[in-house]
Amino acid sequence: MPSTLPLARTNAEAHIYMDLHPCACGNGAFERNSSVIEVDGDLASRYVGACSGCGERREFVFAIPQDVRLPPPGSVVFGYGGQSELLDAGEWLFVADRYARATPAKYEPGTEAARQARQQVATAAAAMGEVLAFVPEGGDAVPYESLRTDRGREVFDAQPGRFYRDRLKVIRDTYEEILTEMDAKAPSA
Ligand SMILES: [Zn+2]
Repeated sequence: MPSTLPLARTNAEAHIYMDLHPCACGNGAFERNSSVIEVDGDLASRYVGACSGCGERREFVFAIPQDVRLPPPGSVVFGYGGQSELLDAGEWLFVADRYARATPAKYEPGTEAARQARQQVATAAAAMGEVLAFVPEGGDAVPYESLRTDRGREVFDAQPGRFYRDRLKVIRDTYEEILTEMDAKAPSA
């Protein structure tokens, strides 16, 4: 019997999904103790912990890919091709916007703040790649029917023009250029 659990292609994708699904008290943070468990004969990853806001027990279980790959250190990878099962294109754009906006304009190279800024831009760039994954082969935009969530549809309805392949690529390329500039400025280890 195929597992009906949603597939988390990477830990990073699972964490983004959990961030987007906060506790009823509104707090999204909880101490995420992860373990690999077996569900219906398949391996799954489970995250359990107490909500940082109200102490309520939080739990998420995801299917994991047959071949688990670890992204290289310092990189942000949500998947390896294909479309996300956890977030739709609108949610990925929401994530990209959020991380891009949170990136400070100024920071001292080589500091923890610089490392965090790089992580935020890398997350935004990777999230843009996930939006692009929903543009069908030969198509020029994300189809509205592919949006599965209220949040995703809200983002789309606010600015449908942002979901064209060309515009998505421009934004993603911009984030990647910023990353390249950041790395050029960073002192080599
Ligand atoms: Zn709570």
